[in-house]
Amino acid sequence: MPKPDFGFAFAPNRALDLSAPLLPEVQVVLETEPSIRACMACGQCAAVCTAGAFTPLAFYRLVLQLRGGDVAAVGERARHCMLCGKCQMTCPRGVNIRNAVLLMAALAPPKP
Ligand code: SF4
Ligand code: SF4
Repeated sequence: MPKPDFGFAFAPNRALDLSAPLLPEVQVVLETEPSIRACMACGQCAAVCTAGAFTPLAFYRLVLQLRGGDVAAVGERARHCMLCGKCQMTCPRGVNIRNAVLLMAALAPPKP
């Protein structure tokens, strides 16, 4: 029996399994900069980020991607950060964002 066409499709499930084991490189980042765990994904950092207006950089998304194990994408996006520190001044959780971004940028695969 053919499936009915409703004119829309369901988006794939992108929920994070927070009980899943973390990749070793992700564990190193979280242990080196433990304040990352305090991020509540409020988006304040992305709202003030100048680099984020022109690139795919949004720190809170990097944190979620990191938890999901997408380390190559995290590294690539983190490299757009200018280390200006505006995000850090607005973060209500006191996340050391610049240090976190530096650690994340180190996850990017080496350029050929
Ligand atoms: S402002 Fe702080 S708590 Fe909010 S999303 Fe950014 S890092 Fe996370
Ligand atoms: S330090 Fe990086 S992430 Fe934070 S506002 Fe500046 S460019 Fe954006």
